[in-house]
Amino acid sequence: MRRAVTIEPHNIQIDATPPPSPASDEIAVRVECVGICGSDMHIYSGHHPTATFPRVQGHEVSATIESLGSNVAGTFVAGERVVIDPLVPCGACYACRIGRSNTCPTLKVIGAHRDGFLQEAIAVPAGNVHPAGTLSADEAVLTEPASVGLQAVRRGVVAAGEQVVIIGAGPIGLCTALAAIDAQARVLMIDTVPSRLDLAMSIGAERTILADSPQLDADILDWTDGDGPPVIIDCVGHPAVIRQCCRLVAPAGRVVIVGLSDKEVSLPIVDFTYKEMTIVGSRASAKLFPESVNLIERHREAYSRLITHRFPLGETGAALEFAIANPSAASKVIVEID
Ligand SMILES: [Zn+2]
Ligand SMILES: [Zn+2]
Repeated sequence: MRRAVTIEPHNIQIDATPPPSPASDEIAVRVECVGICGSDMHIYSGHHPTATFPRVQGHEVSATIESLGSNVAGTFVAGERVVIDPLVPCGACYACRIGRSNTCPTLKVIGAHRDGFLQEAIAVPAGNVHPAGTLSADEAVLTEPASVGLQAVRRGVVAAGEQVVIIGAGPIGLCTALAAIDAQARVLMIDTVPSRLDLAMSIGAERTILADSPQLDADILDWTDGDGPPVIIDCVGHPAVIRQCCRLVAPAGRVVIVGLSDKEVSLPIVDFTYKEMTIVGSRASAKLFPESVNLIERHREAYSRLITHRFPLGETGAALEFAIANPSAASKVIVEID
């Protein structure tokens, strides 16, 4: 079977290995589609803090069942389409014990810390495998980013009718918008790229603002009748954006930080006390894959708009180079394995 191995930064080679056979608690699957994510670009560029080489990348996948380990026989039917949660937590630490295994300090991510889905077949822990419901291979590959958006909306305790500002209209920002819309919230999106904001409107955002608009603060206050938004979700991870979130959020509001960065941010202490704002982080997702499949089933057409480009497995390197070089043209780039 063929696989795309990242040998070193900016160098992917296609090689061949024997197909995997599942251990007793594993399931072997045949990969259909793999989504390219921002973290894949970081690994490929050599900027990921904990990934090592050589590595088969890819953590967003749709697949079909090939064979089942002896302890999990009968849980799935051969050929059934599935989605796979890429997080492998320890299961024993404090975070894992209270159901927040996505923050496990020894978390292993398939595609970053162990080989991922950019190959024709793979064996994974059975507990990570979930039915894909009625989703197509294209729709199912969006389950992981959809779950990240769902986690962000849950962390922000977004309620029906609430006005939510989302900064960053890349795939994760758009998935966050769709999860908020599904929760019957009203969504305003901010980005630096006009075409991304067009995509945001096409999936149901109520309003958009260009990030460099001099009217930005005034427009947001106007949209919320002078209150400021009760919830702001950062999907950028830049210090200036975090400060913007804390400045704009309504008193007693919530700020959710999804964007990832190794930078530091300074904030006026008075906003913590006077505003009593709640600031929470949101990382990947915890046990949300079944709900995420249902979420995509309710909004198939909108999620499908996120996929803008496709490459075959043999051109995985080109797919990553393209995604890195074209952040405004490319939303979700997928690699088709067959
Ligand atoms: Zn991802
Ligand atoms: Zn743990």
